[in-house]
Amino acid sequence: MLQGARHAHIRSLERASEQSGIAISVHELRTASHFMKHECDVYILPGGETTTMRRTGERLELGGSGLLPALFSHLRESNAPVLGTCAGAILLCEPEDGGEPLLPARIGRNAYGRQVDSFQDAVNVQLFNREYPGVFIRAPRFDQSSINCHKIANHNGEVVGIMHDNRVALTFHPELTEDPGFHVWLLNQASNSSE
Ligand code: GLN
Repeated sequence: MLQGARHAHIRSLERASEQSGIAISVHELRTASHFMKHECDVYILPGGETTTMRRTGERLELGGSGLLPALFSHLRESNAPVLGTCAGAILLCEPEDGGEPLLPARIGRNAYGRQVDSFQDAVNVQLFNREYPGVFIRAPRFDQSSINCHKIANHNGEVVGIMHDNRVALTFHPELTEDPGFHVWLLNQASNSSE
C-alpha cells in the first residue's frame, strides 16, 4: 500500500472472494513492521510509480519504510503466491535489492510512450483461455527475448503477462476492470497450497 492503484485491488479481491467462495481478510502493508505482523497467504504489488514506491519502500537505514526489502526476501524464502501489476510487475522483474529477480524477464518502463499513449484493448489470456479487458496506463513492456518463464497473456502478438511458479506479472491493470479473473486465480493459489 505504498502508492498507486492499491484500493482498487482490494475491491477486486472482494469480488474474487464472492465469486470463488474463498473467504479472505485483507492486510494493508505499508511498512516493514506491518509486514512482520501479518504473514499473508498471497501478496499483490499494485501499479503506480516505481520511483515513488522504491523511495518510500526502501531500507529503513535509508529513510524508507523497509517494506520492499522485507517483502522481497520473504517472497524468495516462502515462495508465496504473488500478483504484480504494471509498476508491481516492474518491481518483481527488477527488485533492485541486489537479489535474484522474482520473475525471470527484463522489463522496460513507460515503453508505450507518455500518458496520452495509455490505452484499453482486449488481451488474450492463455491462463484462462479467453479474452480479458486490458487497461494499459503508461505501461511497461517485457523485453520479449528475455522472457524465461511461461507466457500467459498477449496483446497484438506481444507478451503482456508472464508466470513463474505461482508468481504472475502483468503489464496491464486487472484491478481497474470488473473482471476478477486474476484475483480469483490468486485466491485459488492460496487455497490449493493450504489443502
Ligand atoms: N509508469 C509506471 C512506472 O514506470 C508504471 C505505470 C503503472 O503502474 N500504471 O513505474
